Amino acid sequence: MSTLEIKDLKVSIETDQGTKHILKGVDLTIRQGEIHAVMGPNGSGKSTLAYTIAGHPRYKVEGGSITLDGQDVLAMTVDARARAGLFLAMQYPVEIPGVAVSNFLRTAKTAIDGEAPAIRGWAGTVTQAMKNLRMDSSFASRNVNEGFSGGEKKRHEILQLELLKPSFAVLDETDSGLDVDALKIVSEGVNRAHETTNLGILLITHYTRILRYIHPDFVHVFVDGRVAEEGPELAERLEDEGYDRYLNDGAALA
Ligand code: ADP
Ligand code: MG
Ligand code: MG
Repeated sequence: MSTLEIKDLKVSIETDQGTKHILKGVDLTIRQGEIHAVMGPNGSGKSTLAYTIAGHPRYKVEGGSITLDGQDVLAMTVDARARAGLFLAMQYPVEIPGVAVSNFLRTAKTAIDGEAPAIRGWAGTVTQAMKNLRMDSSFASRNVNEGFSGGEKKRHEILQLELLKPSFAVLDETDSGLDVDALKIVSEGVNRAHETTNLGILLITHYTRILRYIHPDFVHVFVDGRVAEEGPELAERLEDEGYDRYLNDGAALA
């Protein structure tokens, strides 16, 4: 059973105004098969955490560690992280003009598995996975994310998740901007991946409504670059009270 362990993680970025310290000591341990919700207000550093796990070069690790079964994730290249079983569903998926979805998926699968998937089986697998996510088969020949609606982009992220079969997935606000139908479809995909592959999930979200469909084992409230509070009852409390309590009450952050 795999474990992803984040210890005292401190991350900054360089901006025109100088160094900005974003993550200020994040501790988080996720075992395979667990679902952890990380909930926090805008600007608290949730995407920075997601990008740092994935290895975005802009984010500079000032201290702490990320390990996967004791292996130093921070020492790995981005593609080595993906091969090691880490996956990021981005908050704002990028368009890749000139690259068709079907080629993108096959190339990603080949890179991660170290060998090309068998042609016949793979085509059927992709078709079925797209059906499950209610994606029209025409998406296979369209360029990645080009002209996709917000909901279609998020479905395409979950399509990758289901096909690439990582051990751990970081889902960065996969719920934001989705209508209720799309939210259900996307959540079903996440739950399928969780059930069929014992996926470990870091579910980053601003809102509580996705937690009606995806049930976390742990809830962490993220404020100002660190985990301010943890506990299963917090999601309900946030639904009622929002984040004001954390933002106004300095003691909660101490
Ligand atoms: P969240 O995902 O919780 O909304 P982010 O991690 O996106 O938070 O951002 C945390 C803080 O870091 C914000 O104040 C944001 O403006 C700043 N930040 C993040 N990335 C950049 C960047 N590339 N350039 C400038 N500021 C950034
Ligand atoms: Mg579980
Ligand atoms: Mg974000």
